[in-house]
Amino acid sequence: HRGHHYDHATMTISTATSALPTIAIVGRPNVGKSAIFNRLVRGRAALVEEMAGTTRDRIYGTFEWLGRDIRVIDTGGISGPDTDYVELIRRQVELAMAEADLVLFVVDARDGLTAADREIATQLRAYPKPILLVANKADNRERAEAAVEFYELGMGEPHPTSALHLTGI
Ligand code: GDP
Ligand code: MG
Repeated sequence: HRGHHYDHATMTISTATSALPTIAIVGRPNVGKSAIFNRLVRGRAALVEEMAGTTRDRIYGTFEWLGRDIRVIDTGGISGPDTDYVELIRRQVELAMAEADLVLFVVDARDGLTAADREIATQLRAYPKPILLVANKADNRERAEAAVEFYELGMGEPHPTSALHLTGI
């Protein structure tokens, strides 16, 4: 997977639950979830784990923010030939909701609003978890401004980011 640049030497298998505040990154494929994850954990002594028996289902990392350790989950590795789109999204949302204190709902400011984004928003609304709407690939001012269209999802203010240029992260 092109978006993943993990150091496999640091990988461990862990089934332990964590008391750390946890952020889950959800969104349709190719919006930049893994790129954002990598930006968050990069340069830290990040512990990247894959859960035993669920390899590629979710990838855990940690980073420090204002002196606090924060755990982040990339739920994006769930695709496969036997996984249809709606099922993939449903599982991703379920995994996120089971473990996260905060959900980063990532959309693509280059593509604009899609039917899949609306589907994810509908599923997220069923849970009482705080959601931060992230409009990634806002690589320039035009795209950052166009991200206001995502207000339509009813998920609050869209936050423009560019994992590519490291803005908004
Ligand atoms: P995921 O499927 O949501 O995990 O998406 P990835 O992180 O794998 O990114 C999908 C593609 O979008 C890759 O080719 C990334 O290099 C690219 N990408 C990610 N973030 C950005 C960004 O901020 N700007 C641009 N232009 N491309 C990005
Ligand atoms: Mg990914």
